Amino acid sequence: MDATLERPLKSVLSVTHAPARHWVGDGFPVHGMFNYNGPNVASRSPFLLLDYAAPTEFPPTRQRRGVGVHPHRGFETVTIVYDGEVEHRDSTGAGGVIRAGDVQWMTAAGGILHEEFHSSDYAMRGGPFEMVQLWVNLPARDKLGAPRYQGITDARIPSIALPNGAGTVRVIAGCFDGIHGPAHSHTPMHVLDIRLSPGAKLDLPQPDGWNTLLLMLDGSITIHGETLLQNSEMATLSAEGESLVIEAQGKAKLLLLSGEPIDEPVVGYGPFVMNTRQEIEQAIVDYNNGRFGRMAVLD
Ligand code: MN
Repeated sequence: MDATLERPLKSVLSVTHAPARHWVGDGFPVHGMFNYNGPNVASRSPFLLLDYAAPTEFPPTRQRRGVGVHPHRGFETVTIVYDGEVEHRDSTGAGGVIRAGDVQWMTAAGGILHEEFHSSDYAMRGGPFEMVQLWVNLPARDKLGAPRYQGITDARIPSIALPNGAGTVRVIAGCFDGIHGPAHSHTPMHVLDIRLSPGAKLDLPQPDGWNTLLLMLDGSITIHGETLLQNSEMATLSAEGESLVIEAQGKAKLLLLSGEPIDEPVVGYGPFVMNTRQEIEQAIVDYNNGRFGRMAVLD
């Protein structure tokens, strides 16, 4: 018997179905899987919000689809592109196109302005679009730090082939099987892009005390041989326990998020997530007074 199976199991606390989609700007039709206002916020810490843009076919257009300049403060936005292309610019001067397989890890921290659009190349040719945007909280000590931008290309993300053709695990942040991912995070976490072949079984032990979420992007799996997790559903697992075993029913594509909880109050208002109401009021004052920097004017 595998030693990991003898450790206490992480139990399944809940399975959430994707709610109806809403549009973020005119570019991103997303299922809001969870956010910082919902119930059980502590069971998902350090993860604050997850918007899933499930596969959508966009026709070719010359229109600029997306979200114009807006602020963030107090956390990080992580954009994982599976299909299509997102073009980004921000007030640190960073920018670029995030293509299929790429990840953008943007630390808003003390304040950033940015815009998110379909890239002009992708918009002109159209085609399938699929993306996840995750908001990761920052501990109080880092909430007013300097903003930062990590553009992580597909080629920099290690892809681990599982034995016997069982599939692959791409390590975006943290580690899997001793292999570390390229993203720098402020608190310990694992972010894994997992693809399994039909019938494949995978041991995914996660640290005791860490919150753990599984988002099913395509196909279905069973968790511990009993709970079924289907397309566009999310499982929340207990912080307690370590062992996590999944088995693909057909082909399966899923995202694992696991992290050490940040045990601090969460007070959010739109694009600002701080620890107190006063800090939110300060964020609004600072934003209105231009203290989030400036966006370069395009030609
Ligand atoms: Mn944004």
